[in-house]
Amino acid sequence: MGSLVLLLGASQIARGASIVAVRVWPAEEYTRVTIESDQALSARHQLVSAPDRLVVDIDGLELSPALRDLVGKVRADDPFIGGVRIGQNQPRVVRLVIDLKQPTAPQQFALAPVAAYQHRLVFDLYPTQERDPLLTLIQEKEQAEKEAAKSVQDALGEFIGRMEIKPGLPEPRRPAAPASAASAPPETKTPVPPPPPSPGLLDRVDRLIVVALDPGHGGEDPGAVGPSGLREKDVVLQIALKLRDALNAQKGMRAMLTRDDDFFVPLHERVRKARRVQADLFVSIHADAFITPQARGASVFALSQNGASSSAARWLANKENAADLVGGVNVKAADATVLRALIDMSTTAQIKDSLRVGNEVLGQIGKVGKLHKGSVEQAGFAVLKAPDIPSILVETAFISNPEEEAKLRDAGYQAELVTALASGIKRYFAKNPHLVRNRTL
Ligand SMILES: [Zn+2]
Repeated sequence: MGSLVLLLGASQIARGASIVAVRVWPAEEYTRVTIESDQALSARHQLVSAPDRLVVDIDGLELSPALRDLVGKVRADDPFIGGVRIGQNQPRVVRLVIDLKQPTAPQQFALAPVAAYQHRLVFDLYPTQERDPLLTLIQEKEQAEKEAAKSVQDALGEFIGRMEIKPGLPEPRRPAAPASAASAPPETKTPVPPPPPSPGLLDRVDRLIVVALDPGHGGEDPGAVGPSGLREKDVVLQIALKLRDALNAQKGMRAMLTRDDDFFVPLHERVRKARRVQADLFVSIHADAFITPQARGASVFALSQNGASSSAARWLANKENAADLVGGVNVKAADATVLRALIDMSTTAQIKDSLRVGNEVLGQIGKVGKLHKGSVEQAGFAVLKAPDIPSILVETAFISNPEEEAKLRDAGYQAELVTALASGIKRYFAKNPHLVRNRTL
């Protein structure tokens, strides 16, 4: 086969490439377009302005229904793509015109076949300007508090208003509302004083506990898949979203997500996101899989400096670390050297604190489900390598075990799990208040 390739040359090899699938993964952060084919494709792109659009020419390709599918796969709420037009530009050159909704910095790269995928041609559309994540987090918190205060004020106003309209009524209480009355105004039994004036952004930043939640996998990387088809990327996102709400309900605590939708985030980017908000804690959420369906129970992992605590832990870390291959990382753009430099920094203190929080979390999840192992395990998970943030990885259950897959799917079990995770996190900060960092904008 090797000599045949040499004889034919690149243009002939690309002849008759057929499209296997096209996928679009829209997200606030970036939108990815994946074109999967049975042969490697060569393509060029250019940005054209007024109106903004990305013009892509793909060689050695004929228009096909599979490629035309792309047009229908663009969602109306895609933050970057307004629409896609496809045409045969020249014989064997297909042109895609991607209409852009905002100024975009595109990245194009190819991925060799891996896991269930054949050749992938990828276009990642990034905004030209990245938002400051810490500022966004604080602003969201201010907004949430303002809204909470406003709803109390609204309810109070309504209550007072009713009293004014019917001054003669001795008891201005409404009859008990039926359970289905979703639009009923909130209860106003206890008058709540107006919130104190905002003490300023910097003070708020300083007093905030920021928890980075990292739902594993996403987008092109489904993670492990259960025997009945439940995907790890979906279930860990559900759990993380619920955990975010539980933590945000805590005074002085704010959760941020490394992904809040179904798109892929490279491992080093997950770490970078947590560091950019100067997180006090990083919690990666996964759902384990093993070759035998009998394996069961939750586990909690921290980073290790000197090898894994067991061969199973090492095996799992290798498996999770392979996510970038499946998810698809632009190797040229990924700043791998930065990550490597981080890893070489001393992580002794980080690991010590990670074991502390890991033990608290393990203790709590042991109350709602079986544990795979009674102690926090350690291995070289790439995603746990922020040198300055205590970081744990929670394998919530074995998605490969039919019973545990059913549990993971169950909203009630998810809620129990979230309560356990949240109380483990709360206990850690309650016992170690000195570990909450002084944050600066
Ligand atoms: Zn995983």
